[in-house]
Amino acid sequence: MIPKATTLGELRKDVEAGRVARRPVKSEIRDNLIAKLRSGETLFPGIIGYDDSVVPQVVNAVLSRHNFILLGLRGQAKTRILRAMTSLLDEWLPVVPGCEIHDDPLAPLCAACRARVRAEGDALPIAWLGREARYVEKLATPDVTIADMIGDLDPIKAARASLELSDELTMHYGLIPRANRGIFAINELPDLAGKIQVGLFNILQEGDVQIKGYPVRLPLDLQVVFSANPEDYTARGKIITPLKDRIGSEIRTHYPASRQQAMQITRQEAWTARGSAAAELVIPDYVREVVEEVAFQARQDQKIDKRSGVSQRLPISLLENVISNAERRALAAGERVTVPRITDVYAAIPAITGKFELEYEGELKGADTVARDLIRAAVSLVYDGWYPSADMRQVTEWFDLGGNLQVDDALPAAELLKRTGQVQGLHDAAREGAGKKPSDPALASAVDFVLEGLYAHRKISRSTEGQFQAAEQVKQRTARAAEPLGVERDLPLTGGKKKYYN
Ligand SMILES: [Zn+2]
Repeated sequence: MIPKATTLGELRKDVEAGRVARRPVKSEIRDNLIAKLRSGETLFPGIIGYDDSVVPQVVNAVLSRHNFILLGLRGQAKTRILRAMTSLLDEWLPVVPGCEIHDDPLAPLCAACRARVRAEGDALPIAWLGREARYVEKLATPDVTIADMIGDLDPIKAARASLELSDELTMHYGLIPRANRGIFAINELPDLAGKIQVGLFNILQEGDVQIKGYPVRLPLDLQVVFSANPEDYTARGKIITPLKDRIGSEIRTHYPASRQQAMQITRQEAWTARGSAAAELVIPDYVREVVEEVAFQARQDQKIDKRSGVSQRLPISLLENVISNAERRALAAGERVTVPRITDVYAAIPAITGKFELEYEGELKGADTVARDLIRAAVSLVYDGWYPSADMRQVTEWFDLGGNLQVDDALPAAELLKRTGQVQGLHDAAREGAGKKPSDPALASAVDFVLEGLYAHRKISRSTEGQFQAAEQVKQRTARAAEPLGVERDLPLTGGKKKYYN
């Protein structure tokens, strides 16, 4: 509901009577935060896993009326937290209508608004600005100029109005003045050129700045928040010391601490409710766990650059791509239930490889191989959680005795179940993971999980094309036993199939 006052006179009465609060933006944010803390309301809905770490520190920074910086690797919800600060602003703010810097009708900064107040007095119409319009965000890049950030002098405007160049009427405002009485967020602060940082500091500290050699006075009222990668931020010379000094709190963000929290984030962010009339989508928990574990594995892998990090966007895009691969199979097979499989995670490698930077060793192996290894390690861990003490000897023996199976991500559920039905004990084991009365696609997915789990543990081997066979060492043993002494062989061939190891 927009407040009632429509003129400066009415606003003045409301402010005097305490019906409309009037204070600097940092106090406003602090007051609203205090009210939320008192009522026990969730401060930042949708921010998961920061309740005991980042959120209390942000609260302290706001209570201290600090400008603050979030330091963290990519994909740690930094921008999201900064944007959520908007919810701590008053719902409506009285402004002089049309003023580019959202002047306070009771104390306008710019000459134009001051002139209007002088001319119209208490009859001056006022406008109410919603909180969403009071958040301005800028991604810092080296080519950002003072004109972009603070503004520029317009000599033509000055000449026409026969004004001094330093008169603010001749100014074309940049982003920071336009954020006046609101929140200004700068992402990747270290990428801002040194002289822009100086300008920023002057505006924050002194309320004035030099533009093209002319001093311009702009005592702005701002809550400034920043984000940066810790590596860039701490590197010497990237941030000018006086500006760093003006940032009251440095808050470190982090990746989700547990697989469960990470799954919750991915569940919230990934596009899974596709509303396709064709099929019902059922995502097994082990698929969600493997998708998440891929990111955890990547974050600790020596072949992946730690400084650039592995964003939470990896599991989010991965899950979306996994679902799409399952969708594609279900559509081709005319299945009514879409159930993603572990095989679909391998098919979704394009959603993984772009999400990290490789170290030299990783470059040598290639992004695809690195991704494949990550999935395999993830499957191995998740499988252990699902089948901690399962005896799969029956299944592995079938392969050891020379059995082989062709199972790939395109195989319809019914066909997969038919092919794997001959492996004793496999369907029984799969039923443990598939839940009660599984549909064919759900059981097929669970069978695939068991096979992939055994492969991840090297109990059986699998080619990239989905050919499951006995484990490497077993095959070598059988081949050696069968080999007549003194006879040279080319390649050990089992079942006449060409072997693809990975
Ligand atoms: Zn104004």
